[in-house]
Amino acid sequence: NYLAPLHNPANIIGIKACMNLMPDTPNVVVFDTAFHQTMPESAYLYAIPRKYYDENKIRRYGFHGTSHSFVSKRVAEIMNKPYDELKTIVCHLGNGASICAVDGGKSVGLTPLAGVIMGTRSGDIDPSIIEVIAKQDGLSIDQVINMLNKESGVAGLSEVSSDFRDITQAIEDGNAKAKSAFDAYIRQVVRFVGAYIAVMNGVDAIAFTAGVGENNKFVRAAVMEHLGYMGVKINHEANDSRGEEVMISTEDSKVKVFVVPTNEELAIARETVEIVNK
Ligand code: AMP
Repeated sequence: NYLAPLHNPANIIGIKACMNLMPDTPNVVVFDTAFHQTMPESAYLYAIPRKYYDENKIRRYGFHGTSHSFVSKRVAEIMNKPYDELKTIVCHLGNGASICAVDGGKSVGLTPLAGVIMGTRSGDIDPSIIEVIAKQDGLSIDQVINMLNKESGVAGLSEVSSDFRDITQAIEDGNAKAKSAFDAYIRQVVRFVGAYIAVMNGVDAIAFTAGVGENNKFVRAAVMEHLGYMGVKINHEANDSRGEEVMISTEDSKVKVFVVPTNEELAIARETVEIVNK
């Protein structure tokens, strides 16, 4: 519980309630971190004193694994290529956001409060900022972390909203803070995609998923425009869509780019069937 105080206590209440109500029914827990257990040590270690890993298991775990697994498998199916031969980057851009590199079906890297800017979460910041803000505003560490989780990200920067529909509208209305939040968001996504292309030494496909990735053509187009050098050519007509599974790069684009609506419920059901059948 100490590693995920917002999520795990609530999950355990649900598990216990199901066990009480249906004592003879198998109870399967599908961890959102499981897919990332293949990350190499070089990807999950933080450069802090090693005892925090050895004794407290402080390391990168990675989230949205169910979604990254589902979407990267779907990309292999769409491309009709073996999953274990494909290098894919999945951009799960929703209220929470994470970008994951999948090399040969294995998660090789991921960003979770760290990483890209999210709706209300800050993404990467210099950790010393926590001390500066705590001292300046007389806040506890808990209060600063709460601010980084709930009052930051696109909402904090734009002072408009955490919702990209509002951000897009505000940009159209000429709101400079909304535009600046959008630009910072895009830059972060591009940085992580670029980093993962280097880590994997190449990329065959990039997929956009979750609320923003599936619905916001402006975000997708802005990210793709930065990746021309890497071999991404956008098909603007195809990108002019919402919530559909579609290829949004051109046929001759070296790197293929897709929108793949995620389906975490289906992925969880599949894993459950597999476990119960064992
Ligand atoms: P998620 O956490 O995956 O449900 O994503 C929620 C976020 O997706 C919202 O806060 C919006 O920013 C974004 N979103 C959802 N629907 C749309 C839409 N129709 N157009 C643009 N953005 C959307």
